[in-house]
Order: sequence, then C-alpha cells, then structure tokens
Amino acid sequence: MMQYTSTRDDTLRVSAAQAIVTGLAPDGGLFVPMEFPRLTVEDVRGKTYARTARLVLERFLGEYSGEFLDEATRAAYDGTRWEDALGRTVPVTGDGLYALELWHGPTSAFKDYALQLMPRLLVEGKRLLGRKETTEILVATSGDTGKAALEGYRDLPGIKIAVFYPNDGTSEIQRLQMATQQGDNVAVFAVDGNFDDAQTGVKRVFSDPAVAQALAQRGTVLSSANSINWGRLVPQIVYYYFSYVQLLEAGHIAEGEAVDFCVPTGNFGDILAGWYAKQMGLPVGRLICASNSNNVLTDFLDSGDYDARRAFHKTTSPSMDILVSSNLERLLYHTTGDASQVAAWMSGLNADRRYRIPVSALQRLTEDFSAGWAGDEQAAKTIRFFFEQHGYLMDPHTAVAFHAAQRKRTPGRACVVLSTASPYKFPAVVLGALGQDVPAGEFDALHRLEQYTGIPAPANLAALQGRPVRFARVIPKGGIGEAALSV
Ligand SMILES: *Cc1c(COP(=O)(O)O)cnc(C)c1O
Repeated sequence: MMQYTSTRDDTLRVSAAQAIVTGLAPDGGLFVPMEFPRLTVEDVRGKTYARTARLVLERFLGEYSGEFLDEATRAAYDGTRWEDALGRTVPVTGDGLYALELWHGPTSAFKDYALQLMPRLLVEGKRLLGRKETTEILVATSGDTGKAALEGYRDLPGIKIAVFYPNDGTSEIQRLQMATQQGDNVAVFAVDGNFDDAQTGVKRVFSDPAVAQALAQRGTVLSSANSINWGRLVPQIVYYYFSYVQLLEAGHIAEGEAVDFCVPTGNFGDILAGWYAKQMGLPVGRLICASNSNNVLTDFLDSGDYDARRAFHKTTSPSMDILVSSNLERLLYHTTGDASQVAAWMSGLNADRRYRIPVSALQRLTEDFSAGWAGDEQAAKTIRFFFEQHGYLMDPHTAVAFHAAQRKRTPGRACVVLSTASPYKFPAVVLGALGQDVPAGEFDALHRLEQYTGIPAPANLAALQGRPVRFARVIPKGGIGEAALSV
C-alpha cells in the first residue's frame, strides 16, 4: 500500500489517510508519495471523468476502499454541479494549441476539481483513523479558494468552515460568491485589511494556544484547505490524463506522442500534478510554468536562484500573486532525493527569503520544465489577440499562460494550456482588455461582455445578481481568532 514521507525527513512513514488528515508533516515538510504508481493511457482511454479519477486515486489512496472511491468520485464529478464539460479540451488556433477548460464547475475556477473531492477524502480519512473530533477549516482567501472551499465543505458531517477575505480586496463577483453562500456549517467574514492581513491573522490563530484550548474543550481541531495538502494535489493529476485522451480520440495526436502543458502558476500545485502524471507514464513533454509579474519561478527555472526578496505586485491575475510557491518543495525533494538538503533550503528561504540549488539539480528540473511570464499589459493584449483572431475568450490568468505558451512551446508539438478561471469572474478586466468601455458596476460589465462577445456567462455567476447576502460582517484584523471561535 502506498506510503508517504516528508520532504524534510524521509525516515517518516505515514498512510494516505494520515497525510490527508494531518495536512503538514511534524517537521514542517510536505507529504510526498514514496513511489510513482503506473497508469497508462490505455488504462483510462474511453473512461468517464469520474472513472478516470477513480483509477488515479486508487493508486495513491490504498487504504480507502474501492466502494468509497467509486461513490466519492461519482458524487464529486458526475453530479449536476458541472456544466457537462469536465476537463474539456478545445483547439484554439488550429496549429496544435489547445485550452483545457477547468472552469465549468460550481464556482467557475479550476480549484473546484480538487475541492469537490478532497473534503470527502478528509471525512473518510477521519473515519478510517477513528478520529471523532469536529474539524474546523480556516481559509484566508484572495478570492477563488474561499468560494471553492465553501462549496466543497458545506454540509459535510463533522466539518465547519470559516472563510476570511480582505474587505475591498476581491472582485465584486468574488465577494458576492462568498457572501451569499448556502449551507449550515459555513461562515464568511470580511477582514478590514488586505490579503496579507487576512492570511497573517489566520496563521496566528493556528498557532494561538488560547484558541487551541478553547476549541479542544468543545472537541474541535483546526485544519486548513490550502494546496499543500496531498488531498488537494492528487485530484489534479486526473485532468492531464483526461485531456490527453481527448486529443488522442479526436485524432489530434498519435498514440504515445508527447504533449506540452502550459500552466498559469501560483503555489505550484497545478503544474506539479502534471509532473506526477508524467512520472506515472503519461506522455507529457515539457511543462511550461507561466507567471505574472511576480515572476520568482521564471527566474528560478532560468538560474537556480530562488529569490523572493523583491516587490510584491498586485496584478490582474490575483490568484498568481505569490512570491513563495510552497509546492515547489515537493519537486525539489523528488529531484534531489535529499530531505536534509531540502530542509536546509527551506530554512534559508525562511530566514533570508532566498536559496540556490546547484547546477546539476537545475539541469534535472529543466529536462521537464521551462518558464515564461507576462505582465498585465501583455496579458491584456493576449486576451484581445485570441478573441479577435481566433474567437476564443479567456480570463487574465489563462492569458498569462497563453502568452508563455506562444513563446515556449516546442515547435511542431501539441501544447495544452490549462485555463483556470472563467473570463466572467473578471468581466471588467476582460472587457477593458478587449478595448471596450468598462461600466462601474461589475454586473453591468458582465452583461456588456456577454453582449459584445455573444458568449453567455456561467449560470452560477449570472445568478448572483440580486441573491440575498447572508454574510455581511466586517471584522477588524485582530478579530479573526474571536470570529473563528464564534462559528
Ligand atoms: C489558484 C489559481 C492558480 C494557481 O494555481 P496553483 O496551483 O496555486 O499554481 C491559477 N489560476 C487561477 C484562476 C487560480 O485560482
């Protein structure tokens, strides 16, 4: 049965359920699988999305029963919550450039793929380990994660969830997505501050002994929904397989032919899932890591020098506004096989916001990865170019990746760009990129974008207008602990 170890101490051994329920290793490292199981294209060819997910999951989550995995993947992916376009891969230019549209789920962002499934893995993991406590999930969000987590954890047994977002820090549509959330075990708070204030406040609550004690008295433990949890990573391997099979079935590629994937990257989770798919046997060529002007990863993959000592830019692709990409640690462990070296680099990052890997390690990384970046202006030009030349509408995160793909794809090889959010989550930015006047209200922008492009907005976003707000509380930065205890 698959076992997991820590990126900072590889004498550790835990099971899949322990990795998912615990989240982070005791030494601060991330859990990684001890081996890469094999899954061939033939194994998944012709299968539904849910079935493909089942085949990926059973290879990593041995102690979860087949019955449970059938039920969980069906509930997560066969329901009515998706627009019948799971993992849809569409040609964009006619010369081998494709979009893998990951935003047809309940919250119109790719995080639904993990967050519709991972909460079920957590609940079952607790049952397998005999854990009876209530789990309270705390989430600090700049927008997408909060809503996707609320939808994933709502009304699950033994779970509560509290989400904290910066007041005035999200788009109006993102705010309404959270403030109108349904479910009996959810709470949403606007924090009077920016995203850093919300994130720092939530981190402080996790390490506050007074909060832990108050929670322990009522049988509750805190947990996080963030992408360092193995349970969030493993569901993301599935769509790389599913996309490849679609290209094969449509005759766009031949059996065994390599495909490049270009991924708009923040915390390095999504792209790392593609690397795991490659280790499992999927014919992945190059993984192109696309960043916005917070381009630490571009510099790292060019030079081996990870240097986060730089100004933080607030961009039109906010889910990629990250200077420290946590999941890179997993890749460093797998490519060096040296946990004490990884631990040393991570403590360097903590102390000096910087570390450097040797040339030999960088060479191994660049066999699989390349990198590119785009500023806001280039992203806007990319949105306009692809709409005007190819009739394809994309959001600003996806546009960053299309920009990188055009420059870094391998000539003559199919390249799939992961499209991570619906353009209608950011209608004002997209409308402006298309050279149109942008009205003040975001729903006006949404309707104008529909009129201009003739492409309808996802029903879940259009339906937000006029929906009653359930959560209107704004709390001070210092009030996060108290709010967490009030849920
Ligand atoms: C979270 C997110 C990303 C970044 O994904 P990572 O797994 O953190 O690299 C990119 N685009 C969108 C729209 C997102 O919500």
